[in-house]
Amino acid sequence: MVGVGLTVATDWLWLDPVVAIAVAANIMREGVHLMWRSSEGLMDRALEPEVLAQVERTLAEFTHPTIRFDHVSSRRSGQRRFVDLHMHMPGDWTLGRAAAVRGSVEQALMSAVPGLRATIQLLPSDVEPHSGDEEDLI
Ligand SMILES: [Zn+2]
Repeated sequence: MVGVGLTVATDWLWLDPVVAIAVAANIMREGVHLMWRSSEGLMDRALEPEVLAQVERTLAEFTHPTIRFDHVSSRRSGQRRFVDLHMHMPGDWTLGRAAAVRGSVEQALMSAVPGLRATIQLLPSDVEPHSGDEEDLI
């Protein structure tokens, strides 16, 4: 509309297509930018090595003859970071005790890596779900 208005006002016939091309180019640029941003948001990537090292150091603080962590998997989605893992502990622990330890591990992970969301599965020492096949769980 600005192009048409200016063309009428100035009688420069070339101005309308020039403005139209500029507008079209801007729309395309915005579109490409938007697509790139949304694909960024959808793509899951691995955690940065230094963040993963921080997670491992934090877990090591809790590792104990009776507590074992395994199946650690992590991902980054947009600005969010996630870590999933198993925490194996003696089968005769009460649920309350197990949950308390899990709470401390979660707290420690979240303070080590701000914004990290940890999902910790509690399991008895000698049990792996679905013979360790993680894909079946998700
Ligand atoms: Zn496990």
